[in-house]
Amino acid sequence: MSDELLPQSVLEARLATIRQLQRKGTLVWFVVGILATVAVFTVPWDRYGLSLGLFLYPAAGTILILLFARLQRIRRAARKLELTCPRCGGDLWGPGKEDSPDLEELVLQRGQCPHCHVQLFVPQKDRASGTH
Ligand SMILES: [Zn+2]
Repeated sequence: MSDELLPQSVLEARLATIRQLQRKGTLVWFVVGILATVAVFTVPWDRYGLSLGLFLYPAAGTILILLFARLQRIRRAARKLELTCPRCGGDLWGPGKEDSPDLEELVLQRGQCPHCHVQLFVPQKDRASGTH
């Protein structure tokens, strides 16, 4: 009897891949953020006849573009991993709405698509209990 659209183990492995990708990116951005902060406070901009804005605005623009590119890269990877609902095509990962947990958390907890609520797999109850 196999009415599962996606085996839980497969989905878990794919989500782990995406999370790894996100975590790796986060570390890079953490370092970039620190370097940028240090640059803002330590470079004697006035002595070079530069205003801080001359540095900040292009930097902010570049960071926005890079962040967007990163999001696109992760999205492409997720699509390649087929981390989308086979029924409605919605993403099975990503941040949830406001105070609700991340989508992948909901998917793994309930075994349902967070968008159309189709049952993707039957969650294994034995390890769902205990941690809170
Ligand atoms: Zn769906």
